[in-house]
Formats: sequence, structure tokens, C-alpha cells
Amino acid sequence: MTEKKKHIKIIATGGTIAGSGNSPTTITGYTPGTKDIKEIIKDIPLVTEENEISYQQLFNIDSVDMTNELMIQLAKHLQKSLEDESIDGAVVTLGTDTLEEVGYFLHLVLNTDKPVILVGAVRPATAIGTDGLINLHQAINVAADNQSVNKGVLIVMNSRILSARYVTKVNTTMTDAFQSLETGAIGNIVGDRVYYFYDRPSFKHTHETIFDINDLTWLPKVSIVIAHQGDDNFQIKEAVNRKCEGLIIATAGGYTISTKISEYLKNIVTSNIKIVRTSRLGHGITSKTHLENEYNFIASETLNANKSRILLMLLIKYKIKNNDLQDYFNKY
Ligand code: GLU
Repeated sequence: MTEKKKHIKIIATGGTIAGSGNSPTTITGYTPGTKDIKEIIKDIPLVTEENEISYQQLFNIDSVDMTNELMIQLAKHLQKSLEDESIDGAVVTLGTDTLEEVGYFLHLVLNTDKPVILVGAVRPATAIGTDGLINLHQAINVAADNQSVNKGVLIVMNSRILSARYVTKVNTTMTDAFQSLETGAIGNIVGDRVYYFYDRPSFKHTHETIFDINDLTWLPKVSIVIAHQGDDNFQIKEAVNRKCEGLIIATAGGYTISTKISEYLKNIVTSNIKIVRTSRLGHGITSKTHLENEYNFIASETLNANKSRILLMLLIKYKIKNNDLQDYFNKY
């Protein structure tokens, strides 16, 4: 008996995978989000014949223009598609610049155990040796693979399968731009075979979280401030004055904060702003210390600054009590 074809829905949102340059060697200075998904999938006939593919161009943007509103729109659209019994899994094409944030947001708010795969490209669709087509081909294969069920949102780039919980963009131009720095890839793709090294992230995701995309129409303002030599608090003061509800402070190293910042923050701990302490290094854990008690900080633990912002926006929106915030950073 031949197995029924898997029905994979592709939701296209733009990025370099849909980008066009002036010449076949243009790999920077091109325009992201120009080609329609209908045009792109014509070039990967094998995987589209082996599976039943439906697709939709939701929008066509550079992912640096991915607002909270568009991200919520994408999540709602995905949720609705995944609730359709005829659909076995979804693939989202998007720009790579904010992929790690969009991926983690979807990982937290979607209520599904079906495979959801995010995919992009580092070289535009018009470049010689564009990585977009092979990435999309592999993303469809991963979405159609039975092993991909209940793993949370996954990223497929450069023949690697990465968890949205851990993945980060680490390179501006190389095709190996996505890595999960401490944990490594969750799997690999070789030819059409999908290999998983481990089962799923140990942190809660998709149907295991308290978040539900149906509850969301907007997200509160949370900003990221990166500490640096000669820091005079300008950014933190601006964020506080503009009534940010949450602030992610990426300290310069492992955990200390400058004397100027600590003196300033001492005076605002009683205000409503929620502050997550993380590191600008982007690699390694920011664990809880005496600073959390002294300043009412939340330690980002295993999340980097970009992902901490996503989680804090959701926790503020869900009105989670101050005393419980650290627990969510430990478990999500
Ligand atoms: N800035 C563009 C975007 O995020 C290009 C990045 C990419 O797709 O590689 O859409």
C-alpha cells in the first residue's frame, strides 16, 4: 500500500529567499521580498510532486519590517491552517534577520503538535548557488517527516534542523548563518533523509505553554539595551522615559552592571518596568545572582536578549505576577 501524500502548507512572508539582485553574483545590496512563492516553488519540482503542497503569500517583506502586528497575524494564520485536519504540517518562508525572534514567538504561542518549519536563505533567489531552493526543499521534507511531530517550531537552514528555542543568527553573509550555540543542531538532513539527534527541547513549547495566539491582538513595548564601554545610561533613561513596560539589559560580560547603571536603576526599581538581565555576548547562560534580589531583575537564564524580549512581552501581556516571572524564564 502506498502511503498517502503529506499535505504541507507553505506560508510565504518574504525575505532573501524571495529576494532579487541586479546580477547573478549579487549577494548583498539586493531587495528582499520581491518574488512570489508561486514562482519559487516551480524550481523545486521533486518535493512538490512527492507531497501535496498548498501555498499562500501572506505578505512579502524584508524581515526587519516584521512588526509585532505582522508577527501576530502570521501566528493566527498558521494556527488556523494547522487546525485544518487535511494539513499535516506547515513551512514558513521568511527573512533571516528576525527569524530567531519570530521562530521563538511561534514556538510559544501556537497550539499544535504538527511540524512547523521556518526557512530562509542567505543568498537571494537570483544569485548563482542560492541556498533558498535547497533550504525550501529540505524544509518541506522535514515538515513531511513523521519524526518532526511535537518538537516545537524548527528551523531548516544549510542542511541543519535547529530548534526555535535555541537558534540564533551568527553571521551576516555566510550560508552557515544559523546556529544553536550551546546545544547544537537538533538534526541533520542528508539527501532526502532526515536524522534527529535528540527528541525535543526540554523547555515548554507550543501546546504546553499558557499562551494562546487567539488571545493576542497586540504586545506591550519591551526594548533591548546593549551595555558598552563608556555607557552613560542614555538608552536606559530613554526607555524608562518613554514608558517601556519591559527592558532587556544585555550586560557587557557575564553578569556585572556598571556603577552608573546600578545607581540609576536603584531609583527606578519601584516603578512598573520589568527588567531582564542578560548578556551582550549572545553565548552562554545568564544565571540568577544576588543582583536579581537587589534590583528586582529577572535573569534570562538560557535565553539571549532577542528571545528574552519575546518572552517578556508575552508574560507582561498575560499579566504574570512579578514573583512568578523568573519561573517562566526557567521553564520556557
Ligand atoms: N534583511 C532581509 C530580511 O531579513 C534579508 C535577510 C535574509 O533574508 O537573509 O528579510
